[in-house]
Amino acid sequence: MRRNRTLILCYHRVAEGVKDPFYLCVSPGNFASHLEEITRGREPSTLADVSVPSRRPRVVVTFDDGYSDNLTHALPIAASKGVPITVYVTSGILENHGGLWWDRLATLLRSRPPQVREIDLPVGSRKLRLPLGSRGIRADLDSVRRHLLPLPVTEIERALDAVSEQWQVSSAPPPDAGTLTAEDLRLLTASDTVTIGAHTADHVRLRDRPTQEQQDTIYGSKDELEQAIGRPVPHFAYPFGGRDAFDDRSVDAVRSAGFDTACTTLPGTARSSTDPYRLPRRMVMDWGRLRFRVQMQRWKLG
Ligand SMILES: [Zn+2]
Repeated sequence: MRRNRTLILCYHRVAEGVKDPFYLCVSPGNFASHLEEITRGREPSTLADVSVPSRRPRVVVTFDDGYSDNLTHALPIAASKGVPITVYVTSGILENHGGLWWDRLATLLRSRPPQVREIDLPVGSRKLRLPLGSRGIRADLDSVRRHLLPLPVTEIERALDAVSEQWQVSSAPPPDAGTLTAEDLRLLTASDTVTIGAHTADHVRLRDRPTQEQQDTIYGSKDELEQAIGRPVPHFAYPFGGRDAFDDRSVDAVRSAGFDTACTTLPGTARSSTDPYRLPRRMVMDWGRLRFRVQMQRWKLG
């Protein structure tokens, strides 16, 4: 029974010594240990095989968003361990090198002038004022991020531009949070280890957005990536991926765009009966080998 299960892992970044308020970054040493653990008695696999029965439990390694360290750090390690990876790319980053908005927000909050105790976010025609600084940067990030999440990304970017202007500080993400360029994407695609997947054009939270807007960003990411790499892009991952990140219209749009699979970040392992447009994934953190091993056991693939 267990043998027909596929555990899909969700990574974002592989880098050393990064100040990472989102806990999305795994060190190269830990990533190598994870892959070594994965290959012990299990079958490193890809999403193309997720519904095909297998004699050994399968593990699929995925990356979200499109950070450039996926090419510089994750790929060499994955290739040396013989573990395929799927990289879900937010297609808009190929043209816009200003960084992903949550990294810009982290930069802004880190460089907040000491006398500033609140943030004024222009949202549509109103101003949203939130208190800052009483519970630390992590709490500030959570609070501001929660208010920005439901907005269209252009509006989020505008709000961050306004704060940057108001505080007279840069909102450029640190160089280690760089995103993939078109040339990086070509290099990733050239490797047998990598499958490119789509992650919308702008990384909007899809849920409750108008149908047309959802279709535009979902279809758009497939078209842009297919044009950029010159091959089909049959796999998709919902931005943010949780229960409040997408709705039935998002699933319909992904299906009608012609994707074969779509990953969430809902917990669980996939079986052959799992809806291919609601595949569960497990978020991986910067765990050492033993902690990762325990985690794999907890996820019933030990
Ligand atoms: Zn994402």
